[in-house]
Amino acid sequence: MGKSRPPIPKELQLSIFRRDRWICLWCNRPVIFGPVLRLLEREMRKAGRTEPLAYFNAHATRDSAPLLDELWGVIDHVEAFSTGGANSEENLATACNKCNGRKSSASLKKWGGREMRKPIKGKYGEPQHWDGLSGVFVILAPRDPVGLTASDKTWLKVFTTAIESL
Ligand SMILES: [Zn+2]
Repeated sequence: MGKSRPPIPKELQLSIFRRDRWICLWCNRPVIFGPVLRLLEREMRKAGRTEPLAYFNAHATRDSAPLLDELWGVIDHVEAFSTGGANSEENLATACNKCNGRKSSASLKKWGGREMRKPIKGKYGEPQHWDGLSGVFVILAPRDPVGLTASDKTWLKVFTTAIESL
């Protein structure tokens, strides 16, 4: 096994997500801030809904969280940390869960030859205001602070600080 990867600070993750406009660098699909789906599920429960929901699962499996299985936004090392890639902004990119998984399982040589997305010159252009639903997270999280995970609490702080500094 290689060196274990130090966690990327959430402040840095947020600045990468925003720089990339919450779009996967590899496949060009919009990504979603995963923890918001858990809060949406929580809202459904509070509203009295008891049916099985496939909104959130921490492992983002297709059967129990199909949206996250595809589009959970993660921060990807362009050059893998295990081969010397740094936790620097230039080496970090927004990726969807699918591309991140493919990259992990592909041989490095194979993936290294893959081109990053080209900007789409579509009739309507690229989304300028997509936020991965992180804005919804900021609204829903404080409704029940006790029920938040430690990670959620840190994210809320990071988002709130980032909003205040705008
Ligand atoms: Zn992707």
